[in-house]
Amino acid sequence: MENFKIEVDSDGVALVTFDVPGRTMNTLTASVIKEIGEVVETIKSDAAIKGAVITSGKTTGFCAGADLGELGGSGGIGGGGSGEEGLKAAFEAGFALNKAFRALETCGKPVAAAINGLAMGGGLEIALACHYRVVADNPKIQLALPEAKVGLLPGAGGTQRLPRLMGVMNAAPYLLEGKSMKPAEALGAKVVHEVVAADQVVEAAKTWVKTKGDPVAPWDKKDFKLPGGGPYSPGGSQVFVMGNAMLRKSTYGNYPAQLNIMKAVYEGTQVPFDAALRIETRYFLKTMMTPQAKGMIRTLFLSLQELGKGSGRPAGVPHYDVKKVAVLGAGMMGAGIAYVQAMAGIESVLIDQTQEAADKGKSYAEGLVKKAVSRGKMTAEKGEAILALITPTTDYALVKGSDLVVEAVFENREVKADVTKKAEAQLAETAVFGSNTSTLPITGLAKASVRPASFIGIHFFSPVDKMGLVEIIMGEQTSQEALAKSIDYVLKIKKTPIVVNDSRGFYTSRCFGTFVQEGLEMMAEGIAPAIIDNVGRATGMPRGPLEMNDDVALDLSYKIGEQTKKDLGDKYEERPFAPVLEKMVVEMGRLGRKNGKGFYDYPESGAKRIWPGLAELMPVTTADADKALIEEIRTRLLYRQAVEAARCFEEGVIVDPREADVGAILGWGFAPWTGGPVSLIDGVGLKAFVETCDKLAQKYGKRFAPPALLREMAEKGETFYSRFGVKTKAAA
Ligand code: NAD
Repeated sequence: MENFKIEVDSDGVALVTFDVPGRTMNTLTASVIKEIGEVVETIKSDAAIKGAVITSGKTTGFCAGADLGELGGSGGIGGGGSGEEGLKAAFEAGFALNKAFRALETCGKPVAAAINGLAMGGGLEIALACHYRVVADNPKIQLALPEAKVGLLPGAGGTQRLPRLMGVMNAAPYLLEGKSMKPAEALGAKVVHEVVAADQVVEAAKTWVKTKGDPVAPWDKKDFKLPGGGPYSPGGSQVFVMGNAMLRKSTYGNYPAQLNIMKAVYEGTQVPFDAALRIETRYFLKTMMTPQAKGMIRTLFLSLQELGKGSGRPAGVPHYDVKKVAVLGAGMMGAGIAYVQAMAGIESVLIDQTQEAADKGKSYAEGLVKKAVSRGKMTAEKGEAILALITPTTDYALVKGSDLVVEAVFENREVKADVTKKAEAQLAETAVFGSNTSTLPITGLAKASVRPASFIGIHFFSPVDKMGLVEIIMGEQTSQEALAKSIDYVLKIKKTPIVVNDSRGFYTSRCFGTFVQEGLEMMAEGIAPAIIDNVGRATGMPRGPLEMNDDVALDLSYKIGEQTKKDLGDKYEERPFAPVLEKMVVEMGRLGRKNGKGFYDYPESGAKRIWPGLAELMPVTTADADKALIEEIRTRLLYRQAVEAARCFEEGVIVDPREADVGAILGWGFAPWTGGPVSLIDGVGLKAFVETCDKLAQKYGKRFAPPALLREMAEKGETFYSRFGVKTKAAA
């Protein structure tokens, strides 16, 4: 065996050390799954072995679970075969882990898990199939079944063993949301039996095997009762009725994984354990084969991981270690940027027009650090050291020695040009100048620069400390070296970079804008705002288009419209909602959520309500929505964004489907169940997508007209992922 080592001590306890060669972390590869069977056979048949302890040989953790690279790849489960034979083969492949773990659980000898680090997904499921679990006392250790987060279902007994250990209701958030548990929580929930010092886990597990070792799982005992009751007990039935409603409310039926998890638990907890595991496998396979699971695994796991390793970085440029950064503008964005830099150990000079404004910017970091210290997440010394890295000032002389600059002053060309000149006067030849502009083309801003090859867009999202994406924008003259250096910087502050070419609104703001605009179009057509926003949320977007517009600020939408009008001249096409927006912003001062007045009213207490005056400006002619209308609104909201993403490909604004999908979900919350706008188009099929867009264009206008690229791809039978030649590599 290459993945497991077995050493039997003088008391007959076999220590099984899980250690996949050549990898930093244990994962359940096909070869591991095969060898688990051999491990079980050895424990069972070797008379010298009285019981066993399973632990990991890695310092990085116990086991990170299934290898999603293998699972998500074309050769993965459910990847091949059709007809009855194909289905049988798929079931056997899907059932392999359940079979192996069940064999371990019923081998007739006591087996304990000594969990010395993180145990995720299948990694936790191995431990749940052991009769006893000891975990190292380290709050950083995570125990979780995160499958639902990538559209999957825990398929190695998790949906059956966890509810049988902690009750259906308690297990729900861990199964449905992939919530993780720390050792202390797991002990309280009776998911593990002991929490001991890290160097004692193996010893404690061995002691249990030798002294108490019980080789029968609780659910294999005659008197077993499901904690909290089964589906037909008074408590249990409520859980399922309520749970179903809550699930519907939170997922709008977009996520088959969650629904299938509920079904597996509901059906599985009513039958004997072996049958339960077969039920789980059926739902696992069903989930695995959905386009949602395929798209989510690819985008939210594989692509995210690859971009997080800098897959878009030009080769040949030496690694650039950014140690000092000057942030120009200590407003909302600058303050957040200085904080994330300091957290990554980067010395940050935070410049504003007055010392007071600069200090205010630093106070944002002070607030966050104080909170972390008070919650015990950071020591006071560490907090001080982080804050000491931020120097608030008005003095540009302090820019000297910076490896990079992030400009985050007002969104105004003249102001930006002025600070660019001042900062560049202090910069070394090798340093990079990045602008955090949200709308102004980089090539234009670079005109103020004396070193345009080192001028680039580094576009953060708000709130900076929470949003994981950074959109890097190449100006016409930006060098590959500046790009490589910017990617190194983004990775150092632990964000995910995507790289796009210069265009109005770049990639993210441009596509997101279409979602909001489509909502306004619908409102101008007379569809009731409540219908638009409710359906908007039901598409899987974080909020409806109108409430999203209120959140972003109506004056910003208005200003962007005005700027676009100015820039496009004759080509600008006024939309029917434009005069209404102007009236609301300019005459009525309705700026959105920030002043409590937008499309909605935001009373001091209570929930927001549609502003009654809105109907006078845009009369409602459709106050009821039937199924067909709902479906059409849903399609319009999603397809409008997807067709814009396709235009970005056609224009070369974005070139990598992974970046387009990851950027959409992380950047503006594009419905995650789709795997991103590009995966949505690929999933629907180019031909069908083009046909629907043609119909929508006929009815609603050319904004839906599919670009020539899509027609060509439809004719050739291509997908974005095939045409743009990106093959997701297996997880390392
Ligand atoms: P903000 O108004 O909160 O902050 C701007 C700061 O720049 C203010 O503190 C101001 O005093 C300072 N400033 C103005 N002129 C200056 C000068 N000459 N020298 C030094 N400091 C100066 O704005 P913000 O929301 O932080 O946005 C900053 C930039 O980031 C803009 O370009 C904006 O488009 C972009 N951006 C904003 C968001 C967002 O969600 N707010 C997201 C991405 C990018």
